[in-house]
Amino acid sequence: RQDLTGKNVVVVGLGASGRAAVKLALARGATVVAVDSNPNTLPVEVDLHPAAVSRLRTEFGPHNRETLFGASQLVLSPGVSASQPDIAAAIQAGVPALSELSFAAAALPKSIQLAAVSGTNGKSTVTTFAGQILRHAGVRTFVGGNLGTPLSEAALQCLAFPANDPPYHAAVVEVSSYQMERAGMFRPKVGVILNLTPDHLERHKTMETYGKMKCRIFAQMGPANLAVIPQSDTFLRKLAAESGSKGTRAWLGGLPGVQLDSQGRRAFILVPTTGIQAGLYLSSMKAVGLHNAHNAGSAALIALALVDFGVSEESIQSVLPTLQPPPHRMEVVHQDEQEILWVNDSKATNVDATYVGIKGIVGRKAVILIGGLAKVLAEGNLGFERLGEVLNSHRAVILFGASGEQIEEELRAAAISVPCVRAENLKDAVKLARSFVQPGDAVILSPGCASFDEFQNFEHRGLVFSDLAKSTVT
Ligand code: ADP
Repeated sequence: RQDLTGKNVVVVGLGASGRAAVKLALARGATVVAVDSNPNTLPVEVDLHPAAVSRLRTEFGPHNRETLFGASQLVLSPGVSASQPDIAAAIQAGVPALSELSFAAAALPKSIQLAAVSGTNGKSTVTTFAGQILRHAGVRTFVGGNLGTPLSEAALQCLAFPANDPPYHAAVVEVSSYQMERAGMFRPKVGVILNLTPDHLERHKTMETYGKMKCRIFAQMGPANLAVIPQSDTFLRKLAAESGSKGTRAWLGGLPGVQLDSQGRRAFILVPTTGIQAGLYLSSMKAVGLHNAHNAGSAALIALALVDFGVSEESIQSVLPTLQPPPHRMEVVHQDEQEILWVNDSKATNVDATYVGIKGIVGRKAVILIGGLAKVLAEGNLGFERLGEVLNSHRAVILFGASGEQIEEELRAAAISVPCVRAENLKDAVKLARSFVQPGDAVILSPGCASFDEFQNFEHRGLVFSDLAKSTVT
């Protein structure tokens, strides 16, 4: 399938996705220029076949306009905005540009059923759950995209197999708004937007553009495709309607679609494209929190909507107890002899994720660790006031990190009535947590902030917390 032979593909941004796109473009016969504005980018040649390397050129440092304008196809990594002046100018001049995910999706064998999961929070969890459900039912499934392995890697693997016998029958991909900036003809069989709350506004500027970007997963859909959004979100409903989608609509929190009872014990599913119905008992789930019951419901809807496999209700029911979110999402990392549950929700990097995470803790009080580097929502406001109500039913709040002081001001303004104290860093915050926690409580790290003031990334923060939780040295 040397369908890009003679084409000059320029891949911009050489993180994991960009590097995978370089390999895919070379394997499809293209001549490739791999560019990255960071002069210290690691070489890409290392894991390539010498014959392919001869068709590859790299340019590190400030973008060379000639390269961008000379491309027959630009492929943009998620970290690279299409509105960067040089790239925008090339696009304006007529150079076709695709986000890495769309470039990869276009290269997948047509027989692979594709599901796309987007939203502000819960994407990785739902993507993972859907993958677990499909695999449990015996469907060979690729799980990746924004999470884990880039879709270009899957497309690359498929090239090594006959077109009518691909290594995967389904692919569930997590899609970030960045990956939809240049969506092209991206058309998943099922697309879900889980929710839409403020995040990443430094790049998208307004909720409208952020939401519009996400709704591009629906734009190319026809009636055989399923477009799923929360029934209660009128803003998202408006944006989805404006996306030009001809997809069949289904709801989160309504039927057709998936509906849970208020305690998250039962889920009812109706897939409008096929008429498939299912009723699931969610009480057997071990994943912590009501939001995870909803995430399981969304994942089950996805699995049932990928019609060709006949995933049965019984099969989904039997995999529910084993569903686990990826690490750092309400992950129980330790339970000590006083029955204190230590929960790592380091992936909660915005206020809304923290809100949902804390709300999900039922039946115990918690000491909640919040802080790091907060994202400014509007006019200097960080949006933490809205946590006041959910925090007041818990034991204590410990604030830490660069934004601790400003978060404290916002919580005080929200009339927080539980003890609320400040620590310098995460280590001290854990120490303080030990002085408040009672037997049978939980200690949750659900920071609602980015981690970069103290850590390399949210994973690093979560691992440090988990070590501190297990350490008995105080
Ligand atoms: P994403 O991939 O969208 O960042 P994750 O699945 O990694 O989302 O979850 C990130 C955080 O968002 C979790 O730690 C949890 O606190 C919160 N979260 C998980 N599921 C949901 C949901 N369905 N709605 C809102 N928040 C959620």
